[in-house]
Amino acid sequence: MKKGVFPGSFDPITLGHIDIIERALPLFDEIIIAIGSNADKSYMFSLEKRKQFIESIFEGNKKIVVKTYEGMTADFCKIQNAGFIIRGLRNTTDFNYEQAIAQTNLQLSGIESVCLFTSTKYSNISSSIVRDVIRNGGDYSILVPKSVKVEEK
Ligand code: ADP
Repeated sequence: MKKGVFPGSFDPITLGHIDIIERALPLFDEIIIAIGSNADKSYMFSLEKRKQFIESIFEGNKKIVVKTYEGMTADFCKIQNAGFIIRGLRNTTDFNYEQAIAQTNLQLSGIESVCLFTSTKYSNISSSIVRDVIRNGGDYSILVPKSVKVEEK
């Protein structure tokens, strides 16, 4: 069984992430969307919220599992018995960052990284831009799936 892990902060999940997941689906028997939780990082959305947003998008899709994890992605892959890490590349900054991590994961754990290039229509989207738009009261709805909602204060 070919299992891929798509790791990320997903703070929040965006249309760019969903595009990568949908395009990776035909390549794998199962995709684990792995939401990272790092005690040193501060997030706009809680781990529970980030998980809820993702679960409601892929509800009923038997090939997709949503999990949370702490620590090294490669260790999580081993525990899950997954041989592949899925990543999305938007630009050369992503490329340089992902290249070093992918090479290290292969060297240390034998885990292959499968990188998909962003679709042109989503290449401008990042979770950090979405958070900026939200903080400044802008219309974030065209950047994220419908399940992502900011609670009014
Ligand atoms: P991380 O903090 O691990 O980068 P993110 O949630 O920001 O987590 O991103 C997870 C993955 O999704 C990364 O591989 C990132 O490059 C990719 N990604 C994010 N936005 C897009 C997009 N618009 N198009 C394609 N890939 C994307």
